[in-house]
Amino acid sequence: MTMTPTVPRRPRWRSLAIVALFLAPLLWPLQHLAERYYQDELAGQNRQTLDLYVANLLGTLHRYETLPQILGDLPALRAVLKDPMRLETLTNANRLLKDISAQTGAEVMYLMDTNGNTLAASNWDKRDTFIGRNFAFRPYFSDALAGRLGRFFGQGTTSAKRGYFFAGAVHDGERVIGALVVKVDLDHTETLWGKTPEQLLLTDQNGVVILTSRPDWRFRATRPLTDAERAAIAAIQPYPTLTPKPLNLDPKAWLIQTRTIEETGWQVSILAPRTLIDRSVSTVLAIGGATLLVLMLLLGLIMQRRRHYMDRIDFEARARQELEQRVIERTADLEGLNSRLKNEVLEREQAQQELVRAQDELVQAGKLSVLGTMSASISHELNQPLAAIRSYAENAEILLDHQRTEDARSNLKLIGELTGRMASIIAHLRAFARRDRHAPESVALQPALDDALALLAKRRRAMAVELVRDLPEATLWVQAGETRLRQVLGNLLANALDALTEKANPRKLWLSAERKDDNVYLYIRDNGPGFSSEAMARAREPFFTTKTRTQGLGLGLAICDTLMRALGGELLLANHPEGGALLTLKLRVAKPGANLQTSEDPSA
Ligand code: ADP
Repeated sequence: MTMTPTVPRRPRWRSLAIVALFLAPLLWPLQHLAERYYQDELAGQNRQTLDLYVANLLGTLHRYETLPQILGDLPALRAVLKDPMRLETLTNANRLLKDISAQTGAEVMYLMDTNGNTLAASNWDKRDTFIGRNFAFRPYFSDALAGRLGRFFGQGTTSAKRGYFFAGAVHDGERVIGALVVKVDLDHTETLWGKTPEQLLLTDQNGVVILTSRPDWRFRATRPLTDAERAAIAAIQPYPTLTPKPLNLDPKAWLIQTRTIEETGWQVSILAPRTLIDRSVSTVLAIGGATLLVLMLLLGLIMQRRRHYMDRIDFEARARQELEQRVIERTADLEGLNSRLKNEVLEREQAQQELVRAQDELVQAGKLSVLGTMSASISHELNQPLAAIRSYAENAEILLDHQRTEDARSNLKLIGELTGRMASIIAHLRAFARRDRHAPESVALQPALDDALALLAKRRRAMAVELVRDLPEATLWVQAGETRLRQVLGNLLANALDALTEKANPRKLWLSAERKDDNVYLYIRDNGPGFSSEAMARAREPFFTTKTRTQGLGLGLAICDTLMRALGGELLLANHPEGGALLTLKLRVAKPGANLQTSEDPSA
C-alpha cells in the first residue's frame, strides 16, 4: 500500500523546555514558602531553647541573690569585722564561708571591711586566695556599702574566672561594718550549651559578649562603645581587656533571636546559621524541581503518546480511504470486465448463430450443388421412364385400336410401375434437398440405430438375418441431425439386407461401435458378396447401382455420403477381409444431450 509520506514534525521537547522555563519561576514562591516555614520552625525551636537557657541562668542567679543578706547576719562573720585581728574568729569565718560555699555551690564567698579589704574568704586555703586583696574598685562593693544589693559581672582579677558577684552589707545595728560577696561561677553555663550548630551569645549592658558558645567571640563588642562606657570599663575592669574588639556578625548568615534579662540588663541571643534553613529549603526546591521535571516528562510522554495515537488514527483513516478507493476502482474494473464479458458472450452467441446459419447455408449449398451435378443424370433418369411411358402409352393406344386389351393392360401396368419409380426418385431427391431446420445437435447413436433397425425388422426376420450387436452400454453422443442420421442408417442397413439376398444362409449382420479421440466409429458389416471393384469405385455416384431398376435407384450411398460430410463426418466403404462389405460411419463426438426420443417424423 502506498501512503503519502508524513512530514516529520518538530520535536515537542523544545516546546516542553520552553514551558518548563516558564514554569520555573513557580519555584520561587516555593522557595519563599519553604524558607518561611523552616525559619519559623527553627525560630520556634530556638525560642524554646533560649527560654530554657534564660530560665536556667536566672535560676542560678536567683539561688544566690539572697545569700549575702542572710550570711551578713551571721555572728561569726560580724565578729571578724568587729575584731579583724583575732585569729580564732578569722579561722572560724573562713571555715564557715568554705562550708557554706561548698553547700551552696557558690564559687567563692568572701568578707570585706569597709575599705574593700578582704578579711575572710572561702578560698582562704588556696594559693590564689582573696584574703588580703582589695576589691573596692568593683561597683558591687560601693553598692553594698550603700545598702543595696550589689550585682556585677566580671572576670575575676585573681582567678581569671568569669562570675557573677552578689554583694550585701554586713550590719552592726544600723551601722554598716563590711560587705559579704558571693561569686557565682558562670563559666559552666557556657559549657552547658553543647556542640549544636546554634550559637549562644550573651552580652552585658555594654553590648560586650560575656558568655558565648564560641570562644573567639568572647569579650568582643557587638556595638560601638561610648566614651563613658570605655571609661567605666577601664575603671571596673569587668573584662580581661580594657578595649574590647568589635564583633561583626553577618545578619545574612545568622538567624538571631534575642531576649533581654531586665534585672541584669543583659541580652541573651541564640544564633542559628541560616545554612540550616538553606539546606532544608534546597531539599524542598530539589524535590519541587524534580516534581516539575517529572510532570514535564509525563506531559511530554502524554503528548507524544497522543501524537502517536493521532498519527495512527490518521494513518488508518488514510489506509481505509485508500482501500475504499481501491475497492471502488476494482469494482469499476470488474463491472467494466463484466459488461465486456456480457458483450463478448452476446457477440459469441451471435457469431454462433451466424455460424450455424452459415453452416446451414453451406450444407444447403452443398446439397444443391450435388443436385446440380446430379441434374443431368436426374433428367436422364426421369427422361428414360418418361420416354418408356410415352412409348408404352402409344403402344397401348395401338393395341386398344386392335382390340388387344390384355396387352394394352400390361402396357398400362408397366406405365404405372414406371411412374411409381419416378415418384420414388423425386421423393428421395426432395428429402435430400430439404433444408434442415436445425444445426447439428447432440444425438444418441444407439436409439437412432434401434429406430432404423425397427423399420427393417420385418424384412430382416423374413430373410433370417442374424444380428450381431457389439455396442457399448453407455450412450454414444454424436453430432448429427436426428432425421438425417436415421436416414443414413436406414439406407446402409437396407443396402446390407439387399446384399444378403444374394447369399444363402447363414446371413449375418454385425453392428459395432467405438469411441476414438473425438470421433465415434460405427461399423456395419454383412457377410454378403461385398463391393465389386467397380461398385467400390463408383458407389458414391448418384444413380450408380448394380441392382435392377426396380430394386435400386443408386441414390442411397450418394445421399449418405453427402449428408455425412455435411455433418462433419465421413462414410468409408470397404470389404471385410473375411468377405462381405464393411461400412464405417465416422461421426463427431457431441456433448451429452437430453433428448433420447426421436423428435422428427421419420418419414420426412
Ligand atoms: P442402390 O442400392 O439403389 O443400388 P446405392 O447407392 O445404395 O444404390 O448403392 C450403390 C451400389 O453399391 C449398389 O448397387 C451395390 O452394387 C453397391 N452396394 C451397396 N451396398 C452394398 C453392400 N452392402 N454389399 C455389396 N454391395 C453394395
